[in-house]
Amino acid sequence: MTKTITVFKGDGIGPEITDAVLKILDKAGADLNYEIFNVGAKEYETNGKLIPDEAFASFDKNKVLLKSPITTPIGKGFRSLNVTLRKKYDLYANIRPAKSNNAVKTAFKDIDLIVFRENTEDLYVGVEEQIDENTVHATKIITRHASERIIKDAFEYAKAHNRKKVTCVHKANILKMSDGLFLNIFYDIAKNYPEIEANDKIVDNTCMQLVMNPQQFDIMVMPNLYGDIVSDLTSGLIGGLGLLPSSNLGKDYAMFEAVHGSAPDIAGKHIANPTALLWSACMMLEYLGQNDVASKIRKAVDEVLNEGITLTPDLHGTATTEAYCDAIIAKL
Ligand code: NAD
Repeated sequence: MTKTITVFKGDGIGPEITDAVLKILDKAGADLNYEIFNVGAKEYETNGKLIPDEAFASFDKNKVLLKSPITTPIGKGFRSLNVTLRKKYDLYANIRPAKSNNAVKTAFKDIDLIVFRENTEDLYVGVEEQIDENTVHATKIITRHASERIIKDAFEYAKAHNRKKVTCVHKANILKMSDGLFLNIFYDIAKNYPEIEANDKIVDNTCMQLVMNPQQFDIMVMPNLYGDIVSDLTSGLIGGLGLLPSSNLGKDYAMFEAVHGSAPDIAGKHIANPTALLWSACMMLEYLGQNDVASKIRKAVDEVLNEGITLTPDLHGTATTEAYCDAIIAKL
């Protein structure tokens, strides 16, 4: 039966890249129906809500969401909608694969690593307290429950995909109790997977090692904040944010989105790279069991990237989003 999914078009470059991705999904023969919603800044201006109730209701029903980026206003009164969605639907596992490709010449070759970022707690619980005029406290929460499930998922993924190593990234030398708990749980769980190498690294050292010798990393698992920062770094290793997809998985719901934000600096210029959202859509197709369609799209993207003729400006090309999209469709 054709699967109906919910789509949030987002703002900034969101609408442009969503249109491109839906066109490619259609031409590739994805067996999907769409319920599409405008969300974000424009929606707020016209209807007073960043995400309309009908959009939430659609995701409640369909349980699968393809989401493009949403701007988060900085300052008081706005909780990040991304954080809200992850919490509301308990999308605890944020999986962010970074793989080298031939299109983009970077200083780094043969990178194939995946960040498993805990997605529901840590400093992202958003609890800040004004102590006095000059002092603010922010709360970091690490629980056994949330740590166990993301760490287990990382090892289960490694086992299922024949990956060799899982690295725990932390700052337990300073945050001895909170990150210490995460690290202890990591080694407890690692005992159940003797065939997979388990090691750990402090987050600052991890950043240096990622730049000096990134090929040593395979699967990486970490609390929320480090996952956010380290995965932007890993996108830089493979050619930028335009190439980093993600899935956000929970027990009952799944959301797929690019790692990048709404890129207001290039919005409306038709030069945004839709690949990160497209590869996120491929992760969604695989989640839904439509592996053949996902493979077809991945192959077409690889061909366009390898040819290096029709590339968007972030990949040092001159193509528009639409021209890049048409080049992929021509390969399908
Ligand atoms: P950003 O990821 O939007 O942009 C960072 C840089 O990367 C910019 O120079 C941008 O032009 C470039 N870039 C990003 N995506 C690109 C693409 N697909 N193609 C080509 N270039 C691309 O980060 P930012 O500027 O720090 O954030 C902008 C807004 O997005 C903020 O409001 C932030 O809160 C929000 N944000 C949303 C999400 C999300 O919805 N998941 C994620 C991160 C940031």
